[in-house]
Amino acid sequence: MDNCLFCKIVEGSIPSNKVYEDERVLVFHDIQPAAPVHVLIIPKKHIASMNDLASEDLALISEMHRIAQETAKQLGVADSGYRLINNCGPDSGQAVAHLHYHLIGGSKLGALVQ
Ligand code: 5GP
Ligand code: ZN
Repeated sequence: MDNCLFCKIVEGSIPSNKVYEDERVLVFHDIQPAAPVHVLIIPKKHIASMNDLASEDLALISEMHRIAQETAKQLGVADSGYRLINNCGPDSGQAVAHLHYHLIGGSKLGALVQ
């Protein structure tokens, strides 16, 4: 997708600090971490938001959850705990219109909604 920041990260024209990659999913460190561990889990395919998920994407979403679980182990937060967050739409503060989950942990996290 032209002009999509995360599509550019997928194709490599914008660099990222990768944690995991396979044919369908990429995990990389957030450029402005909100906690000691903050990575983004994205599909390589452009899906703008949760609102744009189709039933054919369900297997992909399952894979992303499994990869989140493995990433939490790899980054040492599986036992201490973490959050997996998706922002969808303006009120959530979604800034990048390419579906992504934030995996955040490594310290005690504050209240989710203020
Ligand atoms: P959103 O607010 O859309 O849920 O989250 C977008 C996230 O992408 C933010 O946490 C932001 O720090 C991160 N981000 C924005 N631009 C870049 C970038 O160029 N590289 C990386 N690694 N993360 C980015
Ligand atoms: Zn995209």
